[in-house]
Amino acid sequence: MVAPVRPLGGGRRERNGVLADRAIPVLKGALRRLWLDIPGGLTWGGSGGLLGALAMHPILTELLSKGPVITDGAWGTELQKAGMPLGEFPDAWNLKAPDRVGAVARAYVQAGSRVILTNTFGANRLRLADAGLVDQVAAINTAGVQISKAAAAGRALVFASMGPSGKMLLTGEVTPVMLREAFAEQARILAAAGADGLVVETMADLSEARAAVEAAKETGLPVVACMVYDSGRLKDRTMMGTRPEEAANALAQSGADVIGANCGQGVEGFVAIAGRLRAATSLPVWIKANAGLPEYVDGNAVYRTTGEQFASFLEPLIMAGADFVGGCCGTRPEFVAELSRALATLPPKGGIDGRGPAH
Ligand SMILES: [Zn+2]
Repeated sequence: MVAPVRPLGGGRRERNGVLADRAIPVLKGALRRLWLDIPGGLTWGGSGGLLGALAMHPILTELLSKGPVITDGAWGTELQKAGMPLGEFPDAWNLKAPDRVGAVARAYVQAGSRVILTNTFGANRLRLADAGLVDQVAAINTAGVQISKAAAAGRALVFASMGPSGKMLLTGEVTPVMLREAFAEQARILAAAGADGLVVETMADLSEARAAVEAAKETGLPVVACMVYDSGRLKDRTMMGTRPEEAANALAQSGADVIGANCGQGVEGFVAIAGRLRAATSLPVWIKANAGLPEYVDGNAVYRTTGEQFASFLEPLIMAGADFVGGCCGTRPEFVAELSRALATLPPKGGIDGRGPAH
């Protein structure tokens, strides 16, 4: 399949003076697409060598140099299994029960995650204020990174999680400036604590996601930007109606280094989304699906998809264009182990220097 190469600046309204800056990434994208079209070449998005050096943050180039990367699974549902009471603010456990948060992180590293996240999804000032924890923004985020770094022990990179504010821009509940400042504060703390990257995730509002990405970019770390596609007949829109193509373009313009989708539906729905993101952007694609939709048994969410079933979608996801694959709600360390096993059985596709995946 030959992906269309977008003409420079094509289809986008450029403001005066921005064109030169925009032309460079578009050109890199065109080069990368040409590379992806080399027969028998790298059919997934991971790129190394010349193009990686041109197009990607060095941390991502290094990560993707051996092919697709397995990330981690869910944290919230794992912490509940570890005894976190319902109603507890999960991020507060970084201070109250760091050993149990660390156990989740270690389990993912042992299962084969090459990137793990942090228990900082809700640790922006706007959400912490609602939980009465606004004076602990720095402590909770710093501890979150330290816990994951200690668990990774150099065997995995730590990309720190930044979730939504929980406030609606549309209704005026929060202003763009408030959002930007809250995300910038969190991103600065996560970066100072030693995060290797930042993951803006589970976003439903593209404007909020863009504010978070722009704030996160100021740290100089690679930034992953993920929306939740859980709406519409095909479950290919965010709650606010945004489609993958629109999100990919807007998030790239905001500076995202990786474009992703997470949560909201089971893994089978993510193959089409990965393909649409791949067609819309030359940036690496990040996918974290749920373990199906939960059933509620005695008030508890039960996820029926098994790790094996989940991992059977690894190859279709990679063929569709995913570069990073992990899991969201309901996925567990055994899902990561199954994904790692499945990756090892995929035929090498060959890299720019013919190395292919080192498995
Ligand atoms: Zn989720």
